[in-house]
Amino acid sequence: MSLSQALQAACDLHTKLPAVRDFAPWPSDLQPAVLEPAALPAQSQVAEFEQPGTAATQPLIDALRTAVGQARWTQTYTEAEVGAHFLQNYGYFELFGPTGHFRTTQLRGYIAYWGAGLKYDWHSHEAEELYVVLGGGAQFLTAENESWLAAGDTRLHSGWQPHAMNTGAQPILTYVLWRGAGLEGLPLMGSNRETAA
Ligand code: ZN
Repeated sequence: MSLSQALQAACDLHTKLPAVRDFAPWPSDLQPAVLEPAALPAQSQVAEFEQPGTAATQPLIDALRTAVGQARWTQTYTEAEVGAHFLQNYGYFELFGPTGHFRTTQLRGYIAYWGAGLKYDWHSHEAEELYVVLGGGAQFLTAENESWLAAGDTRLHSGWQPHAMNTGAQPILTYVLWRGAGLEGLPLMGSNRETAA
């Protein structure tokens, strides 16, 4: 499979999950871009990802498992921020968006993976965000809420709302959408509950 098939599976997911449909319309200006693949240690874990999805999310998991080698895997954080173990077991790529494999200025769609037993500390960003758990699960934290999200569950974060995430015995594969102001920004670590504006 190719990243085009992953994009098609993401588009299909858009029609199946009301939370995704309500977050933003599917972009109308998508254009394929030439983006060289870049490998990260975690991508083999995505190729072998065995946590089940739901009927809605499984087609995207299946497409990703076979297309991961074509993706430009990225890490936002440094070893000083999150440690070497975290970087060996985490990665994401921008499927579509301002700098993604498919270009659009309307919405940003990431595929992001975290291995088991990781603590993703408090961070925030300007863009509003919708997490969709494709498979696996994790504890999602905000100042107001701590809950375990599993395949098919979604979580909305408002602009600059600090959030954190911890995986347990399972890894997690997510589809993350950004909308609105700050679409081209990056998340910043350390915006914890005490220092967040
Ligand atoms: Zn976020």
